[in-house]
Amino acid sequence: MTTDFTKTRELFHIPEGMIYLDGNSLGPLPKAAKARVASMMADEWGELLITGWNKAAWMAQANTLGDMIAPLIGAPAGSVTIGDTLTIKVFQALAAALELNPNRKVVLSDNGNFPADLYMARGLIDSLKQGHELRVVNPEDVAANIGPDVAVLMLTEVDYRTGRKHDMAALSKAAHDAGAVVMWDLAHSAGALPVDIAGCNAEFAVGCTYKYLNGGPGAPAFIYVRPDLANTVRPALSGWLGHAAPFDFDLDYRPAAGISRMRIGTPPVIQMAALETALAAWQGVDMHDLRAQSIALADLFIAEVERQCPDLTLASPRNGAERGSQVSFAYENGFATMQALIARGVIGDFRAPDKMRFGFAPLYNTADEVRRAAAILAEILQTRAWDRPEFKQRGAVT
Ligand SMILES: *Cc1c(COP(=O)(O)O)cnc(C)c1O
Repeated sequence: MTTDFTKTRELFHIPEGMIYLDGNSLGPLPKAAKARVASMMADEWGELLITGWNKAAWMAQANTLGDMIAPLIGAPAGSVTIGDTLTIKVFQALAAALELNPNRKVVLSDNGNFPADLYMARGLIDSLKQGHELRVVNPEDVAANIGPDVAVLMLTEVDYRTGRKHDMAALSKAAHDAGAVVMWDLAHSAGALPVDIAGCNAEFAVGCTYKYLNGGPGAPAFIYVRPDLANTVRPALSGWLGHAAPFDFDLDYRPAAGISRMRIGTPPVIQMAALETALAAWQGVDMHDLRAQSIALADLFIAEVERQCPDLTLASPRNGAERGSQVSFAYENGFATMQALIARGVIGDFRAPDKMRFGFAPLYNTADEVRRAAAILAEILQTRAWDRPEFKQRGAVT
């Protein structure tokens, strides 16, 4: 292994005494982000004001950060840009994908997808009023449903509830062989495992930067368009910053060349300053080392929990190669148990109806933390420490 994960852990602020196993929902603060955002505020926004767009290269930042994300998803430079939220990027990619296959009407997805992606697909279909159909099947039935009517295969590689991972290469190939356009949501893949988006030849990919990429709450999403299509796809959300010459203030829309046409409006410059420091943490990280370490941590957690907690049922694939970088256990008292864990400083989360989720991020999680988390979980179950009214109150975010 060439990657030194003790060094990458040093780059993040993990609160004293906390075992943080929720980087699949929100990555921790990169220590460098505080100074970078402070300087962005004081030296750039404060002193440069409007001239910061040029002098501090705010306007170029979306594509610069896209180029920092590109190697993490196996994409060439110039094929990724950032902006907006993932929900918006899903709409944008799907709208462009459907136009590439105008004679077909089916968007094929699965019920392991994140609901927002399905909501956006339905909303787009309803707005288009061209007779499209969203077909949602079980994850294991996707391959069998790829047929000559499928316009777009729209999947999230890693299931947010269980960590189950699709075979991206095989499904992309099957879809292409059947004449479909392929779009992947990499929300739980980018920064969690090696991705070879160019190798699987997918036309589009989208993903978050606040989960395993640690860009902070509200960090902008990314979008990839296969380079041979980037000059021809039509941006349905035709914003002024995706225009060929935004400062010509032309009344007619002309899309920019390449991936820049997928930009929409003014980028979140303060948030991008934080994201820049988060992406710098990946320098020197070998994604295959990351994958090996992620599987080792998750396997260790499964073994420790199964040895000590007989009431829990593994709800993730047992084979590490079929998982992303998270593990879920099903338990009827899972919600209260997770609250008891959080009260003891072990942070995971809960997804209804019964899944306790634990994310493993090799950049900052260690084997020692995994053993301690499993021991604390076992103690909570053995003493029924979860069985208290305060652990059964549900907040707005679970
Ligand atoms: C996290 C996640 C989202 C969230 O989208 P936002 O616009 O960032 O709120 C959407 N889709 C998938 C697959 C996700 O995992």
